Amino acid sequence: MPDRFEVTNKDAFGRIGKLETPHGAIATPALLPVVNLNLTLIAPREMRNFGAEALMTNAYIIYRNPHLRETALSTGIHSLLGFDGPIMTDSGAFQLAEYGDIELQSEQIVAFQREAGSDIGTPIDIPTPPDVTHQRALEELEVTRGRINEALRCSGDEMLVAAPIQGSTHLDLREQYAELLSKLSADVYPIGAVVPLMESYRFSELSSIILACKAGLAWNKPVHLFGAGHPMMFALAVALGCDLFDSAAYALYARDGRYLTPGGTYKLKDLTYLPCTCPVCSSGTLALTERQLAEHNLWVSFSELRTIKQAILDGQLWELVERRCRHPSLLQALRTIQTDFASFEAIEPLKRSFIYTSSESAARPEVARYAQKLHRLDVAGRVLVTTDRRKTRHIEREFDVTLLMKAPFGPYPLELAETYPIGQSEVPAPDCVSIKSAVRNLIEFIGFNSLDVTFAYDEQWDHDVLAEVGALATLVRI
Ligand SMILES: [Zn+2]
Repeated sequence: MPDRFEVTNKDAFGRIGKLETPHGAIATPALLPVVNLNLTLIAPREMRNFGAEALMTNAYIIYRNPHLRETALSTGIHSLLGFDGPIMTDSGAFQLAEYGDIELQSEQIVAFQREAGSDIGTPIDIPTPPDVTHQRALEELEVTRGRINEALRCSGDEMLVAAPIQGSTHLDLREQYAELLSKLSADVYPIGAVVPLMESYRFSELSSIILACKAGLAWNKPVHLFGAGHPMMFALAVALGCDLFDSAAYALYARDGRYLTPGGTYKLKDLTYLPCTCPVCSSGTLALTERQLAEHNLWVSFSELRTIKQAILDGQLWELVERRCRHPSLLQALRTIQTDFASFEAIEPLKRSFIYTSSESAARPEVARYAQKLHRLDVAGRVLVTTDRRKTRHIEREFDVTLLMKAPFGPYPLELAETYPIGQSEVPAPDCVSIKSAVRNLIEFIGFNSLDVTFAYDEQWDHDVLAEVGALATLVRI
């Protein structure tokens, strides 16, 4: 099958792309609102008004209702929903577990999705929950893999096939099966059974699972995060490489009186002011109906996706992620993935700017890349590294070379002062973390080149980490 996914722009592992389906292209990153025909708070035909280009619905719910099933088969699922854009169908694996409908075979539900004209169909995977044994996760993965192979045989020529990657919280299994499934001709790769992690704010583990799946998957495969619908984690998930999201969160949260924002969730009853400019919130009333609350939740979700796309275009996705990851559990996730930044560094595109938003900025891949660049710097003789040139001009003639210092990057020659990242970085006065980062890069630079270095630092740079420089270079307080 031809490649249906085309990427046009990248930043971190995030990308702007286009996934071709029989009912048109889905511009990614995309959120597919989940519509349930038995409980329609907002009709599928209205979804475009909020920014939705594609929808997700549950094939099993339609299949088990004789009237809906017959209508879907005779007129097609697009006519049934009243929506002419791409429709992805889930197999209803969760509902099957709930209703215990063990009679229904995965092949039957895939055939139904194909006959009803679904654009992206899904086999009945086994959504193995977090924290189960390795053995159970492996056995269930094998069942899921068999069903994916079966789905690919009976999906027909038109319908795209989603190949869910399960594996519970076992990262080795997530990576291994992502690699195995990546070799199949599936079109979309959902990362499954992560909702319990999101609901309990286990974002660090969620992030590690996404990275494990990405490590196994080929780069040109679109990745879907099953059940993710809270705008607070979209930026992080996109930066980790997720292209598609689906969720009923907009409706489920509204039913519970909860108001979504990119910074977190509020109880509507606790709000005196509505911090949003969508049409609902701009109306001036606080007494939002459940429907209005669901509308706001959709507006804010699609607005966040547009913010993310612009950040990718501007090369500012990490800056956005740092601004969004302020909830302690998201901040922890960001710090956890920073230990994996070597993999990001390899693909990090060249940027136009670097904005230091928080101490987490010091751990960005651009800083690691700069350290590599220092290895190629051709310097010999006696070297002065200064944090304030005005205070060291009088001693410069004693040295062969003078380098300046900028946190969080480290030493740089004057000729790099106008180039990226030194010249295009907006950084406040050095803090503990940015000093450590710069000094560590300086230490690596000295060691790599075996240089005779004098480090002249002012009071802003006075920090315990300088003791480590003292072992390799002469320290002068200026
Ligand atoms: Zn609003």
